[in-house]
Amino acid sequence: MQILDGRKLAKEIREELALEVQDITRDGGRAPHLAAILVGDNPASQAYVRNKVRSCEKVGFESTLIKRGEETSEEEILKIVEELNQNPAIDGFIVQLPLPDHIDEDKITLAIDPAKDVDGFHPVNFGRMAQGLPCYVPATPFGITEMLRRYKINTSGMEVVVIGRSNIVGTPMSILLSRKDNPGNATVTLCHSRTKDLKAHTLQADMIVAAIGRPNYVTADMVKEGVVIIDVGINRVDDPNAKRGYRLVGDVDFEGLKEKASYITPVPGGVGQLTVVSLLMNTLKARRKEVYK
Ligand code: NAD
Repeated sequence: MQILDGRKLAKEIREELALEVQDITRDGGRAPHLAAILVGDNPASQAYVRNKVRSCEKVGFESTLIKRGEETSEEEILKIVEELNQNPAIDGFIVQLPLPDHIDEDKITLAIDPAKDVDGFHPVNFGRMAQGLPCYVPATPFGITEMLRRYKINTSGMEVVVIGRSNIVGTPMSILLSRKDNPGNATVTLCHSRTKDLKAHTLQADMIVAAIGRPNYVTADMVKEGVVIIDVGINRVDDPNAKRGYRLVGDVDFEGLKEKASYITPVPGGVGQLTVVSLLMNTLKARRKEVYK
């Protein structure tokens, strides 16, 4: 069994990004610039955005954090989005989700210029991804494809089971792995909460991508020998021995399953590590105008 080490890969990619920034700025060019809009005081969202801003600094990107209170109106957020769309000094930006209930997330996402939508959530980017056209791939699936590519895991011809059909992980992952590309060319089954017999599907799988949000849900009896495990889940479970009273576990029972798997991502230290660097990779693409000329 080989661990797919997200921490090590993320460090490597950050080093590459830092060199790219040096390349751009050496001749007086402007460093890539990512902006983030954060509305309200959801602690998890604050932590995610802080992490994104800090990651920008680590690689030499510019970053701008626009914070607004919980009561901010939809109109006000749409106005900020439009300003960022028009601002030539901003290469890409994200609106941290979830937004407060009185703000329509779809309306905000649709207002973002697809050329600056480095989260890849706009339907134009999603449609382009489905058709294999240049696009911004959402950060988590992008990170996973990068991990498969760098570990040289050949998905061509594999039976892959993706569990979970969210717009940000499961569904894009199923599209990417079935495309005629590398990684890709797999036969993909997308399972979800209404799947009748999940185990019947997972037992056939050469690779499982678990994006469910249920701690240790995929167990050793559900997989075959040699399976590749990509565990996207990040779940808090109570642990009185841990400093914070909880620890993080994935959707896959790592301990029970690790001897059966050929490759496996740990949680923490796996997929999650690549999500933020993928956002930075998209921002660099935006700075270089690689996706939209
Ligand atoms: P989501 O809640 O939007 O979707 C969960 C999916 O799981 C749904 O499509 C649902 O149909 C499916 N599901 C639920 N119960 C099921 C069951 N019993 N059997 C089969 N399928 C079932 O979640 P999401 O946003 O895709 O996130 C999934 C997990 O990944 C969460 O733990 C989340 O915290 C984590 N996540 C991690 C990263 C990262 O960077 N590592 C990024 C995004 C999400």
